[in-house]
Amino acid sequence: PLFRKAQFFTTVAHLRDLPPESVAEVAFAGRSNAGKSSAINTLADHTRLAFVSKTPGRTQHLNYFQLAAGKFLVDLPGYGYAKAPEEVRDAWEGLIGPYLEGRMPLKGVVLIMDSRHPLTELDVQLIEWFAPTGKPIHILLTKADKLTRQQQAQTLRDVRAALAELGEQCSVQLFSSLKKTGIEVAEGVLGKWLDL
Ligand code: GDP
Repeated sequence: PLFRKAQFFTTVAHLRDLPPESVAEVAFAGRSNAGKSSAINTLADHTRLAFVSKTPGRTQHLNYFQLAAGKFLVDLPGYGYAKAPEEVRDAWEGLIGPYLEGRMPLKGVVLIMDSRHPLTELDVQLIEWFAPTGKPIHILLTKADKLTRQQQAQTLRDVRAALAELGEQCSVQLFSSLKKTGIEVAEGVLGKWLDL
């Protein structure tokens, strides 16, 4: 029950507004519709927590949720669904990119991928772009309930093989917000990153 006390903290639209009191944070990234909000809500055991990130006007911002004193979960804008391409580009160049590259308290990125469509081109771009920071990426293959056991095992193998091919060191796990599976493994990784 790592995130059971998660509370919405703030929405950040500009780098200058990043919370100075943060000592450790993890960022959640992924394609729109991959299941990121559901995963955050599942980990937080909170039905509507992350949907604040979908509020019009906040979709290209960083949404901070406090887990403990000085410890935060940061919901990044979903990508791949270009509603307003200039707004999206400006947010990645002016806020999200610099945040991911330069944010000291950031311990790692949780990358949410739909287990039926893993490692899309934009996911690979994000992985290759973030890797030089030297910080870890943990991949949640979510909506695992939509796959048979055999497909789950195959998907895990395929994703691990593809990452090895790319020369990337990400850790990978299956997850389902619907069936609430994979929670303990995810909590283990995040708890370590955040020292919770
Ligand atoms: P986001 O855009 O990445 O935040 O995605 P959402 O969390 O809003 O989920 C997108 C859609 O996928 C919604 O219709 C969810 O109900 C569905 N969904 C999310 N997670 C799961 C899951 O683990 N299993 C199933 N079956 N559906 C899911």
